[in-house]
Amino acid sequence: MTDLKKHFAVIGNPIHHSLSPQIHAAFARENGLDIHYEAILSPLDQFKNTIHTLITQKLTGANVTLPFKKEAYQLATSHSSYAIIAEAVNTLEFKEGEIIGHNTDGIGLIRDLEQNLDTHLKHKKILLIGAGGAAEGVIYSLLEKTPSELTLTNRTIEKSSVIQNKMDVHAKSFNVHLNVIEIAKCPHQYFDVIINATSVSLSNTELHMDDKVFHESSLAYDMMYGKETSYMKQAKSRGSKVSDGLGMLVEQAAEAFFIWHHIKPQTKSVIESLRAL
Ligand code: NAP
Repeated sequence: MTDLKKHFAVIGNPIHHSLSPQIHAAFARENGLDIHYEAILSPLDQFKNTIHTLITQKLTGANVTLPFKKEAYQLATSHSSYAIIAEAVNTLEFKEGEIIGHNTDGIGLIRDLEQNLDTHLKHKKILLIGAGGAAEGVIYSLLEKTPSELTLTNRTIEKSSVIQNKMDVHAKSFNVHLNVIEIAKCPHQYFDVIINATSVSLSNTELHMDDKVFHESSLAYDMMYGKETSYMKQAKSRGSKVSDGLGMLVEQAAEAFFIWHHIKPQTKSVIESLRAL
């Protein structure tokens, strides 16, 4: 009997923590689709082989997570504009012999900020902490929202400067003041939106942000999810509104679901049920 189910996967290393199978199963259920979505652990040096095996197994698409987003970009035979700008891919479509690479992280973050957290970025001052794949994946989407200022900071300041050089042309076209400062030299002034795009919480170390970047009217966003991080605790102690990255995770998955199925799933109930867990 032919299996008519469409097959999908999320590939990473490690992968056991991934909520993507649960999220896509919930979207599919809600929309009456019968899909198969599994988490696949790829050996660190075998990403290309893992993808080619999945293609021979007739997968329709895959999500890609740490540490393979750059490799997925290299492997894709064509790219969406967001993937080209980020030079990283988190969603793959396997279609007519092509491997199409997308990046939905920026859209996911913006939808969580605007639609779920009612935080709008136009004319706001944003501080983006981190210069890894996550920061690079969202920065263009932040610029597109025309904040007045976007300041980049990172433990390794040279990496922020590389992103600044790459994004300068876009910042100018959106009339956004884009600058880089050392994390220890953050100005003694607050930002409207402070986004932690580092993986610092994974190592149970701290960011040591200056208290003054947070304010009662600020939103402190942590892309990490699943626990209240020390960054969130610090922001809370300054009276800021805080959020983890669960909403971003669900929203970026919703955009991947749209790419594969051409259906926009409801996200609020999925965010709520995952938070309740
Ligand atoms: P990555 O490419 O490995 O980059 C890690 C970043 O964290 C770098 O900027 C690194 O600074 C910084 N960092 C690591 N340890 C640090 C420490 N002890 N002190 C200060 N900075 C430190 O990782 P990524 O892909 O950007 O992911 C970053 C985080 O975002 C992860 O926690 C990931 O789970 C999360 N994320 C969430 C979503 C979502 O949907 N919610 C989506 C994507 C990513 P250096 O450059 O100095 O090494």
